Amino acid sequence: MKDVELLPDQSAELAETFGLLADQTRLSIVVACVDREIAAGEIANELALSASLVSHHLRLLRAARMVRAERRGKQVFYTLADDCVRDVLRIMIGHLFAHEHGGDDQPAEGDI
Ligand SMILES: [Zn+2]
Repeated sequence: MKDVELLPDQSAELAETFGLLADQTRLSIVVACVDREIAAGEIANELALSASLVSHHLRLLRAARMVRAERRGKQVFYTLADDCVRDVLRIMIGHLFAHEHGGDDQPAEGDI
C-alpha cells in the first residue's frame, strides 16, 4: 500500500493524533459526535462528565481536526470533522469486534 508512507514530520503528527484517541474519555467524546451535531453540554450530560472537562477535550480534538464546531445562537455544536474520522473508527471497531481475520492472529504450532 504505497499510500501508507510517512515523512518523519507526518509520522509525529499521526502519532499525536492517534494519541488523542488513546484516552478513553476523549474517545467517548469523539464517538458521541458520530452522525450528529451535539452541544458540548449534551455530551457532558450523556457521558456524566463536567462541562469544563468536555470543553478541554473538545478544544484538543478541534485543534487536531478530529471534530469541528459550529455556533448556532448561543450554543456551539460539535460533529466529526469529516467522514475520514468516522471511517477510522468504523474500520477499527470492525477490526476488533466484527470480523474474522485470516488466521494469522493465532500463531500456528511451531511458529515463532
Ligand atoms: Zn481487520
